[in-house]
Amino acid sequence: ASAELGRAAARLLATARGVVVRHEQELGELDAIAGDGDHGIGMRRGVEAAADAAASLVEEAGGQACVSEVLATAGDAWSEKAGGTSGALWGSGIAAIGRALGSQQEYDAAAAPAAVAAYRDTVVALGKTELGDKTMVDALVPYADAVAERIAAGASVPEALAAAGDVADAAARATADLTPKKGRARPLAEKSLGHPDPGATSFALIAAGLAEDLAQ
Ligand code: ADP
Ligand code: MG
Ligand code: MG
Repeated sequence: ASAELGRAAARLLATARGVVVRHEQELGELDAIAGDGDHGIGMRRGVEAAADAAASLVEEAGGQACVSEVLATAGDAWSEKAGGTSGALWGSGIAAIGRALGSQQEYDAAAAPAAVAAYRDTVVALGKTELGDKTMVDALVPYADAVAERIAAGASVPEALAAAGDVADAAARATADLTPKKGRARPLAEKSLGHPDPGATSFALIAAGLAEDLAQ
């Protein structure tokens, strides 16, 4: 039911926090190559606020908070505390997952691709980004496609998220060959060539962490 998913969402946010904390410095260094170097700290502030807000809500509700409320609260906290472009996108995307999941009695495996698609559609719409612009979207779109394909082929949610995590990892690495089209001055954009996009990298790291969590 939706309270069970609410508890799972809070746990997955805590897992995402662990991933971001472990990679904070590396993400900052990656963003410093052609950006302003704040991607590590921004992601950490956002995910910490989101994980804390989700955990508090679940606790206050005695474990009975529905997933849509948990993710609405977590998304708001993420946007508010992270600052930066990626924070607004992550926060809005997480809130969109909550709206997509709603508060149903029963969920089947199809809820997973629907949730991921809601996140993707929100990030793409808000960021006004196209594939190849060298952003998080370059990892997110193939990830969402892979989740949908695997579930359609009969995979379980943990299997689908594990396979999609590998797809996101490869896609994030492949952004090294791109030059950024969004949010950076041209001279810095050239410096980015040969290095993966920070937002695509953090997305893939989190995707892998969530898959690992679900595999247990
Ligand atoms: P800022 O660029 O405001 O300093 P961050 O450093 O936290 O924010 O995040 C940078 C990352 O955000 C980029 O590497 C890219 O993946 C992502 N990003 C930036 N602009 C967009 C956009 N318009 N759409 C999607 N993702 C974007
Ligand atoms: Mg930055
Ligand atoms: Mg910034």
